[in-house]
Amino acid sequence: TAKFRDGLAKTRASLAENVETLFRRAKAIDEDFFEELEEILIAADVGVKTALALVDELREAAAEQKIRDAAELKPLLVEKLVALMAEGQEGASLNLNPDGLTVILFVGVNGVGKTTTIGKLAHRLKQEGKKVLLAAGDTFRAGAIEQLEAWGRRVGVEVIRHQAGADPAAVIYDAIQAAKARGADVLLCDTAGRLQNKANLMEELKKIVRVIAREVPGAPQETLLVVDATTGQNALSQAKTFGEAAKVTGIVLTKLDGTAKGGIVLAIRRELGVPVKFVGLGEKPDDLVPFDAEPFVAGLFA
Ligand code: GDP
Repeated sequence: TAKFRDGLAKTRASLAENVETLFRRAKAIDEDFFEELEEILIAADVGVKTALALVDELREAAAEQKIRDAAELKPLLVEKLVALMAEGQEGASLNLNPDGLTVILFVGVNGVGKTTTIGKLAHRLKQEGKKVLLAAGDTFRAGAIEQLEAWGRRVGVEVIRHQAGADPAAVIYDAIQAAKARGADVLLCDTAGRLQNKANLMEELKKIVRVIAREVPGAPQETLLVVDATTGQNALSQAKTFGEAAKVTGIVLTKLDGTAKGGIVLAIRRELGVPVKFVGLGEKPDDLVPFDAEPFVAGLFA
């Protein structure tokens, strides 16, 4: 909860404080009250449909339980938010192969925080006692390989790389052989995120997936789509594009610390139908946190 409380400061300052103010000032639980609540939720990017549904449920609960005091309604709102956020999150923990190599593929548009997320996850897995290896599969973006190597040094994890411009599938192939030779538990694979040449990028991704599946039966165990929370609805269309090339198994929502619209977690999960596995709450190695509805909402209203 403490991690979420700090990381969600901006969302708390808007969403939670507006909610608190509304509940404190409310003289009666009337239509104005519910409309204002709807507006606050929509402004936090939870999505219009979700906001309307949530407020409808509250309206019904208030009528049924004859609630007249806003203070009594507040715990209900929190409870419903938690329930909504937990919905569809079954299996949100990382799918790791218990007796062999796990390969995790990262996809997403440039700048969303893919490299940073790989570095942070490497750190987390290493702390859990796993032997981790990184594959520098973004051979296209200038500086991507060096950036991944910098994270490797920072968290003490080896990076397998080729020179810039090399075939990403070949890098991943080599990384898999290295991971097998070193007895690694988890291989985290970076990929390119240039969307200027979409068709090429999607072919490249498909080829990478084929190589991984051929070399490691059952892999990739996870294909994580990294999306930037600060881009809001844009994140949704990107997600759909990547979903066409690779079977996305989970979302990493980065830069939640940089947005007041933390409600996007809900919109993304609902629209894409895959669980949010991690959220990024800053730039340091420790700032990647498994998404969990209850501490998330608790952190929001703390
Ligand atoms: P990539 O192009 O997708 O690999 O993106 P990078 O990993 O290079 O990240 C782009 C920028 O976003 C960098 O300046 C990162 O430090 C920053 N970044 C990544 N994740 C987070 C996060 O969760 N919070 C914040 N505040 N910044 C982040």
